[in-house]
Amino acid sequence: MAGVYDYLPLGLLTLNNINRVIREEMNSIGSQEILLSTLQNQELWSATNRWQDDQVDVWFKTELRTGTSVGLGFTHEEPLTNLLRDHVNSYRDLPFSTYQIQTKFRNETRAKSGIMRGREFLMKDMYSFSKNEEEHNVFYENAKRAYLKVFGRLGLGQKTYVTFAAGGSFSKYSHEFQTLTSAGEDTISICDKCHVAVNKEIIADQPNCPVCGGNLSHEEKGVEVGNIFSLGTRFSDILGLNFVDEGGQKKAVVMGCYGIGPSRLMGTIIELNSNESSVVWPREVAPFDVHIIEILGKEGEEIRSAGEGLYDALKRAGVDVLYDDRNISAGEKFADADLIGIPVRVVIGRKYLEKGVIEVNERDNGKEQEVLLKDVDSLVEALQK
Ligand SMILES: [Zn+2]
Repeated sequence: MAGVYDYLPLGLLTLNNINRVIREEMNSIGSQEILLSTLQNQELWSATNRWQDDQVDVWFKTELRTGTSVGLGFTHEEPLTNLLRDHVNSYRDLPFSTYQIQTKFRNETRAKSGIMRGREFLMKDMYSFSKNEEEHNVFYENAKRAYLKVFGRLGLGQKTYVTFAAGGSFSKYSHEFQTLTSAGEDTISICDKCHVAVNKEIIADQPNCPVCGGNLSHEEKGVEVGNIFSLGTRFSDILGLNFVDEGGQKKAVVMGCYGIGPSRLMGTIIELNSNESSVVWPREVAPFDVHIIEILGKEGEEIRSAGEGLYDALKRAGVDVLYDDRNISAGEKFADADLIGIPVRVVIGRKYLEKGVIEVNERDNGKEQEVLLKDVDSLVEALQK
């Protein structure tokens, strides 16, 4: 059905690499990973007015055998706020943040743009809990920087803009992270002086760049790869997430939420790094570091044993290698290698027999060279950088 995707081994390796980058950056700002239940309890969401179809129209709803209504979560403010009532009592318990990488569900009327907007998709959702707005703002800025690091490591840094969007109820703006691509569904206006954009939805209220006052004359299509929101005390007020401050006063916890869609990111990376017949993954997320193609010809055994030696040497050095030893034509192997998208391709074949060299093609920067197989250490060194 539309809007639903399965991941095979190469795709899953790539997705897990994206998740690893996200985890490292969220951990680096002190956030702790958790995993909440997908099944959601109607009562909790009715309390915040987010269960009814006229309020939220993307629920997948079902029933337990007992007749109790449940839904499949599309976000997790309610259950997390509710759960934390047992863990937050005093100002000493704050601030902190927590995140999960979990499958979310949205019953979209029309699922489109392939993997970019699914009915079932992977989401990294992070939530912050602070004593006051000032403390919240510090975390919010840290999260913004961590997000930019994630997009930078995924090779999207140049094309990704912090974008001012229509705010939640607790701040003038929220921030989206928009990556420029013709496949994007959003229109953003880019500042002519700094690396910031404004979503077209709010251009009427915001004719100039909110950061530097520059002109917003340049329109582009973008895909939203992340967003961050200040939630204020909306959820903590209703669900009773309070703490006692230094002066003994009871106060509501100030919250924020921060989303990144790893599966949508994967689609965006492909949009930016592919054409009809080839993909080149950024090195951080590629399913393998090196793709060895052996072309056997007549002296097959000699090439095979040299290729296997190379494979072992690279593995020992901690380089992840995909070795194409299938019994098919060289043309088919090259065509598959183009589509699999591993950034470094090594060919071992006739030239090895003639000159003892392997052909190394760094597909992401166009560098091609012949390397003596006995000098493979220098290749390993270059790859480890
Ligand atoms: Zn600007």
